[in-house]
Amino acid sequence: MYGYSGKILHVDLTERKTWAEPKPEAWYKTYIGGVSMASRLCWENIEVGCDPLSPGNPVCIANGVFAGTPVPVGGKWGLASKSPLTGFIGDSLSGSWFAIALKRAGWDGIVIHGASDSWVYVFVDDARIEIRDASHLLGLGTYETEEAIREQLGDDQVRSATIGPAGENVVRFANVTNDGRQAGRTGHGAVWGSKKLKAVSVRGTSGVTVADPKTLLELSYDIVDAAQGPHTQKYRILGTVSNMLNMNGLGLLPTRNYQQGVFEHAELVSGEHLYDHHKVKTIACAQCPIGCEQMSRAVEGPYTGAMSGIEYESLYAVSSNCGIGDMDAAIKVIDICDEGGMDTMSAGVTISWAMETFEKGIFTKEDLKCSKYPEGFEANFGNSEAAVTLAEMMLNREGIGDLLAQGTRRASAQIDADRGTETWKWAMNIKGLELPGYDARALKTFALGLAAGTRGGCHNRSAAYDADIKGVVDRFTIDDTRGELARETEEYAAVYDTLPLCKFIRRCFTGQADRAGAWPAIAKLINATTGWSFDYADIDLIGERAHTIKKAFNIREGWTREDDHLPWRWQNEPMLEGPSAGYVVTEEELEYLKDIYYQAKGWTKEGLIPKDKLIALGMEDIAQEIGV
Ligand code: SF4
Repeated sequence: MYGYSGKILHVDLTERKTWAEPKPEAWYKTYIGGVSMASRLCWENIEVGCDPLSPGNPVCIANGVFAGTPVPVGGKWGLASKSPLTGFIGDSLSGSWFAIALKRAGWDGIVIHGASDSWVYVFVDDARIEIRDASHLLGLGTYETEEAIREQLGDDQVRSATIGPAGENVVRFANVTNDGRQAGRTGHGAVWGSKKLKAVSVRGTSGVTVADPKTLLELSYDIVDAAQGPHTQKYRILGTVSNMLNMNGLGLLPTRNYQQGVFEHAELVSGEHLYDHHKVKTIACAQCPIGCEQMSRAVEGPYTGAMSGIEYESLYAVSSNCGIGDMDAAIKVIDICDEGGMDTMSAGVTISWAMETFEKGIFTKEDLKCSKYPEGFEANFGNSEAAVTLAEMMLNREGIGDLLAQGTRRASAQIDADRGTETWKWAMNIKGLELPGYDARALKTFALGLAAGTRGGCHNRSAAYDADIKGVVDRFTIDDTRGELARETEEYAAVYDTLPLCKFIRRCFTGQADRAGAWPAIAKLINATTGWSFDYADIDLIGERAHTIKKAFNIREGWTREDDHLPWRWQNEPMLEGPSAGYVVTEEELEYLKDIYYQAKGWTKEGLIPKDKLIALGMEDIAQEIGV
């Protein structure tokens, strides 16, 4: 087989044993790589119904088909487990050298079972596998851990995916980091922490054999050239943080825990401000000719010197959504999260929930006592020091940080049970995963994409906001096209997440990002890598299968139609000001949208998958288990 090694590494931390599992080519043709293959490995290896923080929940790593080849933005890998936030599939992507090292080591994926009784890291040294003591790494941040392992092994080519103190403390939205990039969402770091798994380190010394190296190189050069042109300019110059002012202008910038869509201090936390005052340099994932992340530094005040890569979804969550118009503080909070190994989005939205709960008088200074502020502190919106302190408290599970480390769904449920309050009404999550940086009350197609999303409140798995924002449809209303549009956009995104390729390359194949523009070019890349004969229809199937395996996983874990929900606020509280004021997604609208979406997917009215549909997708064993 070209492009793959044909085998998956299994590591059992309980039994301390390892083995290789060969996989047939047909399996690779169905699941390809990235989030699709990682989700399939979850399907095959999880103890159904297990607690996500128990040994029965495996860590499933799946490489990309283009990792280690010349294909631009193809150096990515997928990570999946049952999410400790949602109880459903948690699938994430990360870029960079870890994927390339794993490919060179001769493994297409890794499944880590069980749990260790002492802290360990797994060292994949080509074919030789070791489970090594990690007690000396405890307490180290994510970057420090990578560096410490390189030093210990005496090889700066060793690449590691690591957790920080957040993962060690089983913060439910802890992430996994490699080369400064994060598999950020759904709480993988907590799963790793529950297994006492501090890191997976890889040294790969072989090459990657592809079917047609000459063609692959030519195709790749063309994409690299196109990636220096206008199609990626937005990402190369300002990066995704340019969205701050764009979303603010549309009245969609989450502000003060999604109470408003316009932030009066948006200029101060804009991409333009970041570029002019804080940017140190642009950084890029491995195999990337674009480079979109803005490495930035706090330059004034108490947080001077804090430094991190900044992108939109981190920035909105810790700035406007917390009412904070202070870029230095925003960089500090992101730095705490990145070094400590916490998802910035869930952390920021959880802080904003705590701030609203404080402003409504439910949390008091008494609740906010900590070693830094023994008398407690005020946590109103706009209080930068409160955001910094709450981030530190969550990371260390200190004081109220222990509650907040559970995420908004669990934290609100616990407070409401203890105090008879209704803080769940402003707990801004879907299925337990905190929301992204777009207010969907006035993005009706995106509201459906989010509600139906298999991993919860996630903008990356549904690109439906694109159609709303670009005016392909009227974003303020609904009609019978939205089910098909939500289906199309989520399966489109699933193709990129499966190969995986960074979506920011999507216009660089032919200038057109749509299926007609991209699919034939992607088929050529796959064929030159693997020697297969994929065509347009095969690329479409990649997306449908990837989405279906995740949905099947959720159904087997007990998903029902009621799980496709929106936060109470988006259904009951319109914004009062700005271009998106006055809108909510009513219950009637949401139920209608779900109906037409399930219909577009070819599912039953209850959102279940017919057996014959699964069989047609080549998923016979899944059809037997959950098909109807
Ligand atoms: S464009 Fe940005 S996210 Fe995409 S591969 Fe490049 S650096 Fe990574």
